[in-house]
Amino acid sequence: MKLLLMGPPGAGKGTQAEVLTKRLQVPHISTGDMFRKAIKEGTELGKKAKQFMDEGKLVPDEVTVGIIQERLAESDCKNGFLLDGFPRTVAQAEALSKILNDFDMLLDAVVNIQVPRENLIERLTGRRICRNCGATYHIVFNPPSNSVKCDVCGGELYQRSDDNEETVANRLDVYEKQTAPLVQYYEQQNVLNNINGDQEIKEVLKEIGERLGRDLV
Ligand code: ADP
Ligand code: AMP
Repeated sequence: MKLLLMGPPGAGKGTQAEVLTKRLQVPHISTGDMFRKAIKEGTELGKKAKQFMDEGKLVPDEVTVGIIQERLAESDCKNGFLLDGFPRTVAQAEALSKILNDFDMLLDAVVNIQVPRENLIERLTGRRICRNCGATYHIVFNPPSNSVKCDVCGGELYQRSDDNEETVANRLDVYEKQTAPLVQYYEQQNVLNNINGDQEIKEVLKEIGERLGRDLV
């Protein structure tokens, strides 16, 4: 299944992707994760992305489209993938459509997780992530059983440097201006599935399963 996960920062894309990628047996492709890895490894890509990410701005389209083009060409994407956080601009969506066309692929569905803006700030500032396996937690809504360690692998939990209140506000503004227009873009292509993300994590997953015709829970 070739799936695209959309929604504002904090909507729960990464959280749902953790389960979806296992159930659907497709690779999870998150541009945010790819940039964070590049920054950690000190690569050229990381150097290009860092300042934009620190300010809560989007990394330029040509950089982002380039890494997606390379990633989708890899053999594990042949039978499907789960794109998370890409595309984020209309230009990226148009580039994706061209890449898929060149690879003779078609998107099966776009899942758009909707959450009111007033809930997103609390979700993002309370987010914690495992440094080792990437599992996502929330200090209130999805707490780990031990506050400093990951339930899955025992790894150390950390807070993303862009999950502070000021950068979060910028990221939400950027989403509204640059990414929200994609909802209409995919609606016109008849692939859009709006999901209520303002409910328990399990209920969100259930609703995604219902829309995709798969038993995911
Ligand atoms: P995104 O990948 O869309 O930015 P995440 O999946 O990282 O969002 O979720 C953001 C934060 O909100 C995390 O701390 C996560 O644990 C929490 N979260 C995710 N889904 C829900 C939900 N349905 N209800 C409450 N909190 C949630
Ligand atoms: P995320 O992990 O999806 O919240 O993304 C973190 C940051 O990475 C964003 O605030 C952007 O700076 C950058 N980023 C991730 N995906 C994209 C994208 N598709 N286009 C541009 N920038 C991106």
